[in-house]
Amino acid sequence: MASEPSSGRITGSCACGRVRFSATNPEATVHCYCTTCRKTSGAAYLPFAHFREDNIRWENEPDKWAKSDNATRAYCATCGSCISMSYHGDPEIGIAVGCIDEGVDLINPVKMCIYVREKPAWAQLPQGVPAFDGGSTEG
Ligand SMILES: [Zn+2]
Ligand SMILES: [Zn+2]
Repeated sequence: MASEPSSGRITGSCACGRVRFSATNPEATVHCYCTTCRKTSGAAYLPFAHFREDNIRWENEPDKWAKSDNATRAYCATCGSCISMSYHGDPEIGIAVGCIDEGVDLINPVKMCIYVREKPAWAQLPQGVPAFDGGSTEG
């Protein structure tokens, strides 16, 4: 192992600090350009770092909101920060990368951009990153 003191731990919080979590073993990072991610973030897209549910520990539980029957979004009702999104039946949760405080260097580079058919004209896609009209087409 390297001499880095980093334990591989990732921590995160919302803007006001009420919601806190820690996580290990980040999986793929995906940028979502869907309309709901754009609206809830106020930005061109939401970058999600995926983690297996078992690898996330919530110190203070976030509030929940569902736009559709397919997925639940977590946010902080006090400050409005977007925190995570999970599809029902998926063992992974996408954590909004902007909420991460410690361990940002452990997050993987973006693997793909999804829902680019809903991308606003003013947003630029990153060069060399696979982009999908809808959700990821894994196989
Ligand atoms: Zn908050
Ligand atoms: Zn989205």
